Amino acid sequence: MLNDKYSVLFEPLKIGPVTARNRFFQVPHCTGMGHLRPKADAATRAIKAEGGWAVVCNQETEIHPSSDLTPFTEGRLWDSRDIPALRLMTDAVHTHGALAAVELVHNGNHASNLSSRAPVFAPSDMSVDSIVPKQAKAMDKADIRALRRWHRDAARRAKSAGFDIIYVYAGHHMTLPQHFLLPNMNDRMDEYGGSLANRVRLIRELLEETKDEVGDTCAVAFRFAVDEMSGVDGMQASEEGRAVVEMLAELPDLWDVNVSDWSNDSATSRFMPNEGYQTPYIEFVKQVTTKPVVAVGRLTSPDKMVSMIKSGVVDFIGAARPSIADPFLPHKIQTGRIEEIRECIGCNICVASDNMGMPIRCTQNPTMGEEWRRGWHPEQIEPKGKETEALVVGAGPAGLECAMQLAKRGYEVTLAEARTQLGGRAILEGGLLGLSSWKWVSDHRIYDLQQRGNVKTFSQSPMTAQDINDLAIPNVFIATGAKWRRDGVGRSSRGPIQKDPQMTILTPDDLMAGHLPPRGPVLIYDDDQIYLAGVLADHLSSAGYEVIFATPATNVSPWTENTLEQVRIQTTLIKRGVQLILGKTLTQINAEHAQLSCIYSKFEQHVEMASILLVTERKRKTELFDALGEDLNHNHFKKLKLIGDAEAPGLIADAIFSGHMAARHFEKSQRNIEREYFRREIVALEGN
Ligand code: ADP
Ligand code: SF4
Repeated sequence: MLNDKYSVLFEPLKIGPVTARNRFFQVPHCTGMGHLRPKADAATRAIKAEGGWAVVCNQETEIHPSSDLTPFTEGRLWDSRDIPALRLMTDAVHTHGALAAVELVHNGNHASNLSSRAPVFAPSDMSVDSIVPKQAKAMDKADIRALRRWHRDAARRAKSAGFDIIYVYAGHHMTLPQHFLLPNMNDRMDEYGGSLANRVRLIRELLEETKDEVGDTCAVAFRFAVDEMSGVDGMQASEEGRAVVEMLAELPDLWDVNVSDWSNDSATSRFMPNEGYQTPYIEFVKQVTTKPVVAVGRLTSPDKMVSMIKSGVVDFIGAARPSIADPFLPHKIQTGRIEEIRECIGCNICVASDNMGMPIRCTQNPTMGEEWRRGWHPEQIEPKGKETEALVVGAGPAGLECAMQLAKRGYEVTLAEARTQLGGRAILEGGLLGLSSWKWVSDHRIYDLQQRGNVKTFSQSPMTAQDINDLAIPNVFIATGAKWRRDGVGRSSRGPIQKDPQMTILTPDDLMAGHLPPRGPVLIYDDDQIYLAGVLADHLSSAGYEVIFATPATNVSPWTENTLEQVRIQTTLIKRGVQLILGKTLTQINAEHAQLSCIYSKFEQHVEMASILLVTERKRKTELFDALGEDLNHNHFKKLKLIGDAEAPGLIADAIFSGHMAARHFEKSQRNIEREYFRREIVALEGN
C-alpha cells in the first residue's frame, strides 16, 4: 500500500504534449549494448518500465557517422535503417505504460570516428578528446548547417521509432552543443563564438528546430550541465550556467540538469557520499523556468525524494544508477516495500562496463544486462524443483546472494558463517575509508533473509568437512572466499618474493581484520592495480601513517579509470603526502628496506620502511571444498558447488553474480545450462 506521505511521487505531470504517469524519471544512461545488442537493450529498458518508472530513456544516440563512438557501443540513428532496432525499445517500454525518451547526440571531438573515418568536428581546431592521432576541424558555416539538418532528421526518425521525448544534449563535456558553449573550447569570431548569446546560438537553433520537427506530438528535453565543478576555471551554476537557463528558460519542454564532466555527474560514493549531491548546483533552475525539471544525485530514499519535490528543487526524480541497482524502485515505494529497495552503493561498476566496452553489470543487481540474453528478472525467479534443502557455507556477497535466491525459490536454506558478522568482504572493505556504502550489499541481503521463514542463519560457525557431513544436507554451496597472498606472487612476479623474516609483512586481510602496521613508514606495494591498494593508502595515511606507495603501474590504481575515479584517487594521495613510486616492481624485502626495480631500465631503488603491505593477488580458499571432495563419499552430495571468490576472485559484483547464477542453475542439468548459457544477437547476413 502506498504511504500517503509518498503520494506526491505518484502524481502525473505533463511534459509538453505528453504526460508522465508519476515522478520517476530514468535519465539517459549507457548500457554498453546499444546498436549492437538492441534486443538486450530493449529488454533492460522494458524492465525499468515494468518496475514503475514513468519515463525510460535510452542512451546517447549518435545522429550521424561524424559522431561515431566506436569502440563504444551506444545508440545509433544515422539513418532510417536504425529505426527498427530502436522501435524494439519504444514498443517494450510502452507495453508497460511508460514514456520512451531518446538522447540524440553529436559528440564533436569526443567521437574519434574510428570506424566511419569521417572528419571530426569541433567549434575550433583542436585535438580529439581521446589519445588518438587525430585533430578535429573547426566547423565552418556549411558544417553547422549540416549538423542542424542531421539533428532535425534524427529527431524525425526518433519520432517514427516511437519515442515520446526527444533530447537535445549539452553535457558531460561529450557533445558539440556543450563544446560550443564553453569558452575554452570555442574561440570563434563569428556569430557562434564570443558572447554567451553567440555561444548559446547552436543550442537555441537545435531546440527550436527539434520542436518544429517533432514538437506536435513529442516533448523536447534539454539536458544541460549547469556547472563544470572546476570553479572559476569553468562554467559555474552561479554565473553562465544560470544565464543559459535564463536565456532558454521556456524553450524546452523539460530541463534535465546536472553537472559535468561524467566523473562529476556519476561521482562515486567514495568521493561524493551524499545523496542528492547535485542539489546545490541545480536548485536554482526551477526558479528560472516554469517547465518541469529533472535532476539526479544517486537518489534512493523516498523521504529525500519527497522533500526535493515539495521544496521545489525538482519535479521529477532523476535516476540512472538507482534505476540500475533497482529497476523496481518506484514499484517498491508504491507498494509500501521501501525496506526491499536495493540501494545503489555508488561503486560505478556499471560505468566501468561501458568504459570497457561491454554490456552493463551492476554490483547490487546481478540481473542487470541479463534480462534478454539469460531471461533474468530482478524480482522473479523460478520456483524450486524436486530438492528441498540447501546449505550455503560462507556469508560473503556470494553466499548471501546464493542463499537469498535459493530461499526465494522456496528451498529450506541453512547459511553458515565462520565470523560473528555476516557480509564477508562487503563488510570488511566497507569498513575502509570512503567505502561505507558498500556494506549495503550485505545489509540488503541480510534483511531479505531475515524476512523469510525458510532460512536458518548461523554466525560464528566455522564449518569443517565433518560438520557438513554430519548435517547431511545433500546440496552444498561453498562460498568461502579468497585471501590476499603474503608471498608477493602477483602480476609481476609469478614466484615468491625473497623476504627477511624481521620485516613485518601485512596483507589487506590483516588490515581489514583490525591489525594495524607498527608505527613508522609503511610501504604499500600494489601489484593488483585495481582499487584496493589505493583505498588502503588513503585509509592509512588518513590514520596518520607515513605511506609510501609503489607499483609497477605508471599511475595509481589504473583500473579505476573505468570507474571515473583514477584522477581523484591519485590527487587525494598526493595531497595527503603519500610518496608515489611508479613503474617499479618489488624484487626483495630486506630487514629494513625493500628493493624495487624500474620496469623499463631495471635500475634499482631502495626504500626504507618499518612494514610492508602487499596487495598482489588473492588465493582461493578451497580447503573445505577440496576436503569434501576427498574425504566424503561423493555420492552423499547431490550438489557440491564452489561459488564466488572461492571459485574465481574478482569484484564484489562478480561474487554476487556467481552466487545468483548458482541459485538460478540449481536443479538444471549441465546440458541445459550449457545450452541456455546465453543468447546472442548474431549479425544478420542478409539485407542491410
Ligand atoms: P565472496 O566474495 O565469494 O562472497 P568473501 O570472502 O566475501 O567471499 O566471503 C567468504 C565468507 O566465507 C567469509 O565471511 C568467511 O568468514 C566465510 N568462511 C570461510 N570459510 C568458512 C568456513 N569453513 N565455514 C563458514 N564460513 C566460512
Ligand atoms: Fe550503483 Fe554500483 Fe550498481 Fe552502478 S554498479 S548502479 S554504482 S550499485
